[in-house]
Amino acid sequence: MIRTAEVVIVGGGVMGGSTAYYLARRGVRPVIILERDQLASGSTSLSAGGIRYQFSSETNVRIMLESVPVFERFAEEFDTEIDFRQDGYLFLATTAETWADFQANVALQRRLGVPTRLLSPDDIRELAPYLYLDDVIGGTFCPKDGYADPYSVAMGFARKARELGALISEKTEVTGVSMEGGRVTGVETPKGRIATPVVVNVAGAWSAQVGRMVGVDLPVKPYRRQIFVTHPFDALPQRIPMIIDFEPSFYFRREGPGILMGMTDKDEPSSFNTNVDWDFLAQVVEKAVHRAPLLERAGFMRGWGGLYAVTPDDNPIIGKDVGGVEGFYCAVGFSGHGFMQSPAVGRILADLITTGDAGLDLSEFRLERFARGEGVGEKRVI
Ligand SMILES: Cc1cc2nc3c(=O)[nH]c(=O)nc-3n(C[C@H](O)[C@H](O)[C@H](O)COP(=O)(O)OP(=O)(O)OC[C@H]3O[C@@H](n4cnc5c(N)ncnc54)[C@H](O)[C@@H]3O)c2cc1C
Repeated sequence: MIRTAEVVIVGGGVMGGSTAYYLARRGVRPVIILERDQLASGSTSLSAGGIRYQFSSETNVRIMLESVPVFERFAEEFDTEIDFRQDGYLFLATTAETWADFQANVALQRRLGVPTRLLSPDDIRELAPYLYLDDVIGGTFCPKDGYADPYSVAMGFARKARELGALISEKTEVTGVSMEGGRVTGVETPKGRIATPVVVNVAGAWSAQVGRMVGVDLPVKPYRRQIFVTHPFDALPQRIPMIIDFEPSFYFRREGPGILMGMTDKDEPSSFNTNVDWDFLAQVVEKAVHRAPLLERAGFMRGWGGLYAVTPDDNPIIGKDVGGVEGFYCAVGFSGHGFMQSPAVGRILADLITTGDAGLDLSEFRLERFARGEGVGEKRVI
């Protein structure tokens, strides 16, 4: 292992890969990703792979305006097939409050150039005749939203980063960060120390632990989220949007010949537990059959649990010199939307490190917002 680096990236998920790629493209070397397990073995490979413009916060929409085009040209730019399908995201509202939010969100998104549409129940019936809609007030649809394979995206970033000179060390846990006079000077690992002026914390659900290594309290907590996949199921069309029943936080989409579905258990406390709770599946199926009655005929093939890294306002913490520690950069707490934001966020971190300018107003994502009670947060969290 090398003993000095310009930049040490802690975490080899999709954020680590993207950051290494954009840094390498800017000629920064050596850059090294330290991953305690294997690349993409954290939340990245367990994600549902959803990619959407439809957010309630302007900064999130702007991040997606930069990220979606990268997914669109990923196969060519990274020489990696990511199975990006732009079948759209269909959000459904069943309360007046959510419907009012949807209207404000669509106005924001359209102002920024996103082709989201408000839909009446009749419009929704035309788009998705297999849905039960008697309790639905309306919906929103953006045809440019979709999903891709998160593992392939993470590996595409990492492979290109490596080709451009970045180094990757798997099975290498960062156990400490050394500091002098309020600035970062290196990282400790069981394989030895690496001296560096820049440490990038992209450790996902474990990022608060890395924050503690420099005495910074990052309010990022792990929460289990589960996904279930059916056997091949042809009672629904082969191409359907990602459908989000917003109130119960239930979603489903195609996964090859089957259907992938997930739901947030709002009562579940924070933990690092990723076991599948098959009893919870009964609650998911109840919501599924309510919304798409044909799903009553589906049988389940597999399920898995992974971790969301959640902040108090469901927006990430992105910045340089975080907590006043010089050379400590963070992109953490994506609260369930980090995969889709990884292209822009990697670019942002690379620019912050090389020029100090993110090229985007990130004031909503400052760590200080929590202490100051600022920031409106993100309402479209699933
Ligand atoms: C069920 C589920 C569904 C999801 N669906 C979506 C979705 O549809 N769309 C979307 O955009 N996002 C989704 N997400 C969220 C998405 O997976 C994450 O936001 C994203 O993968 C975060 O990437 P990351 O690189 O920051 O973190 P991770 O992929 O978790 O990577 C962090 C890495 O850091 C490593 N690490 C931790 N501590 C250390 C240390 N001390 N030293 C070295 N390495 C360390 C870990 O091993 C891990 O590999 C979903 C998540 C789950 C669980």
